[in-house]
Amino acid sequence: MVGAGFAGLTAARTLRSAGHSVLVIEADDRVGGRTKRGTIAGETVDLGGQWVGPAQARLLALAKAFGVAIYPQFTDGRNIVDLAGRRATYVGETPALSPVALAEFALAIGRFESLARRVPPLSPWDAPDAEVLDAQTMETWILANAKAPAVRSALRLLIRTLACVEAGDVSLLAMLAMASAAGGFNEMISTRGGAQDAMLRGGVWQLADRMAQELGPAVVLSAPVSAIAQDDHGVTVSSGDRQWRGQFVVITAPPAMAGRIAYAPPLPALRDGLSQRMPMGCVIKVHVAYGRPFWRAEGLTGMVLSDRTAFGPWFDHSPERGTTGGLVGFFAGKSAQQWAERSPGARRDKVLKDIALYFGDEALKPLDYVEEVWAASAWHRGGYAAAPGPGVLTGFGPALREPIGRIHWAGTETAEAFAGYIDGAIRSGESVAEAIARRL
Ligand SMILES: Cc1cc2nc3c(=O)[nH]c(=O)nc-3n(C[C@H](O)[C@H](O)[C@H](O)COP(=O)(O)OP(=O)(O)OC[C@H]3O[C@@H](n4cnc5c(N)ncnc54)[C@H](O)[C@@H]3O)c2cc1C
Repeated sequence: MVGAGFAGLTAARTLRSAGHSVLVIEADDRVGGRTKRGTIAGETVDLGGQWVGPAQARLLALAKAFGVAIYPQFTDGRNIVDLAGRRATYVGETPALSPVALAEFALAIGRFESLARRVPPLSPWDAPDAEVLDAQTMETWILANAKAPAVRSALRLLIRTLACVEAGDVSLLAMLAMASAAGGFNEMISTRGGAQDAMLRGGVWQLADRMAQELGPAVVLSAPVSAIAQDDHGVTVSSGDRQWRGQFVVITAPPAMAGRIAYAPPLPALRDGLSQRMPMGCVIKVHVAYGRPFWRAEGLTGMVLSDRTAFGPWFDHSPERGTTGGLVGFFAGKSAQQWAERSPGARRDKVLKDIALYFGDEALKPLDYVEEVWAASAWHRGGYAAAPGPGVLTGFGPALREPIGRIHWAGTETAEAFAGYIDGAIRSGESVAEAIARRL
């Protein structure tokens, strides 16, 4: 296995439990990949993947197997929406827009959902009119399907938050495929009952640690795989001057990172083309701790959707027990690109000022602040997952999970359900383990 994220660790556990010998080779000095442990004001938090939805059965099963409980995202109160110069508060999942904008928003989401239902998650390139859908970006689709500035702004903000790229950078077909694999667009954007429904007590990162503990010395850290050579009898995986020999290799790093490995013989043109065309987007995740969750006293959930701020959206992330308060939020897409270049101090000031715009001056006096700039993280370099631009899935998609000789591909990007999510990573690890077991 190349990579000790949820995909690589799951594949290794599954193969080992079927009696096969496995090795997980990880570039970083820790396991977990796009999940990571952080600490803020003495509390443990997730610096990467965090939420789980009720339909994400594989992640829920893994949490249960390790005895890790889940608890709901705090949603008691009113959310704030501030789009196209109009600020309002609302309860529930549908942003409070003007009646005209709200009707248009519902219509646009309805159209998107019905297109998504026609896209097979495992082979979006087989969808009816796939080429037409893949020739458009989300931005061109938004311009064609929404007129009200607030609706356009809401849709852009949601795409940026879901894919960590601007709407103009991601293909319509790619977003439809993501929604199709996640049970719909509403599922992806919702807290209650959706993908942001709940969190794991103590953090999701600990499941990766627990899987790695089980695997023991079969997990090798701080070993960036630089080259993979295959012949008729097996594969040789190299990290600098260290080498390992096996029958098969599974690459769980996302395509952009997998493309940085040297392959002998070289990868076919289609697969290499795919690696060149599936960028990771850009995200900075931020946690802020306060002496108390003061927004709750105002009847607010802590959730803010705004096109006025560079930081956002953000959510309440106060510790389940105790009196301190916490918020978690993101810079995503272009604002993450821009703010990744600034100093941590400048980012902190910006985050606090953006929060204060809605929650008042108490927001300027946090107890603690912690952030993770994922685009600057050597082995991840980007957003939650790969975000293909126009023409990529129809042109190169079939190479996404097609094995090349003894090389198999896994990772959340290859998942048949919840691609882009931790649940998808687990599913991809299980699927690739089955595929390899059939060949052993
Ligand atoms: C900020 C953020 C927030 C997110 N929020 C959520 C969320 O709330 N819920 C959710 O379900 N998902 C979320 N995600 C997405 C989720 O974390 C990922 O989908 C999932 O963790 C991917 O797992 P993976 O095993 O497929 O890939 P990864 O976790 O990326 O694992 C691949 C591994 O390969 C390693 N690697 C790369 N190159 C090499 C090399 N050359 N040699 C050896 N090893 C290499 C990497 O270090 C990495 O450990 C979020 C992600 C981020 C970044």
